[in-house]
Amino acid sequence: MKHLINTKDFDIKTVEHIFEKAKLFKDTGYPNLLSDRLIITIFFENSTRTKSSFEIAAKRLGASVVSLDVSSSSSSKGETLFDTAANLDAMEPDAIIVRHKDAGASKILSNYINCPMINAGDGAHAHPTQALLDLFTIKEYFKEVKGKKIAIVGDIKNSRVANSNIELLSRFGLEVILVAPPHFMPSTKNFRQTYSIKEIIDEVDIIMSLRTQTERHNNLIYASLKDYARDFCITKELIGEREILLMHPGPVHRNVDIDDKMLQDRRCKVLEQVKNGLFVRMAVLDTLINQNSELS
Ligand code: ASP
Repeated sequence: MKHLINTKDFDIKTVEHIFEKAKLFKDTGYPNLLSDRLIITIFFENSTRTKSSFEIAAKRLGASVVSLDVSSSSSSKGETLFDTAANLDAMEPDAIIVRHKDAGASKILSNYINCPMINAGDGAHAHPTQALLDLFTIKEYFKEVKGKKIAIVGDIKNSRVANSNIELLSRFGLEVILVAPPHFMPSTKNFRQTYSIKEIIDEVDIIMSLRTQTERHNNLIYASLKDYARDFCITKELIGEREILLMHPGPVHRNVDIDDKMLQDRRCKVLEQVKNGLFVRMAVLDTLINQNSELS
């Protein structure tokens, strides 16, 4: 059984196949490819975009969705994660979509179920559909992405979005530059690193701004978000007239990650990412459910 736990689960051919489908859905509408199918979503951590995006994607394809309210499920009564998964699986869903605060949770659960498992974010580890929709958005804009330079800016060390994007984008030939203060910089030495946006602003094609993951910090790193913003907020003054694509996975801390003016700028693709997320998730669901045995 093929699952989507991290971006490495899909080879380049599969990713391209998913993008072709997503583009088709975007251009031609919503085909009924998952009628009579049942999908379970179970989110142990908050989500606005990802949960609604998956649920709408499933419904647009004609599937039924059962969304488990974790606060009222038996996990809050002490049932283990494993038992929850095994019980859900016994009801024979066609896919299970999980978000969990612990890295590795979806991988462990995938061993106990008989349908595709999709990781909708596990701790600071991975968020594969976010990276897929980000690459789809970049490809739609540039067509040829090989050799494009992307600066990933912010709390990279604690970001599953950064992790998944670094893997996927570099596999597709983009040059990734990590821009972060020392505390937010991961230990990898495989990518160019800098503490200063100004140092790389003239050479990048794309900036991906990230939210400071305050829920994952053990102690206060910056005295205030204002201090952080002084160095890392993407402002209109900083970007100037440069033709740079600006992205963010959301939720955006306004005037901390990106300022009000840039959020309204035509080069800012935040809402386009959300729109594309729906089509990419439709394509992922269709592929994992209807073509699972054909996937390598
Ligand atoms: N929505 C993304 C995630 O779930 C990014 C974020 O929360 O900052 O990881």
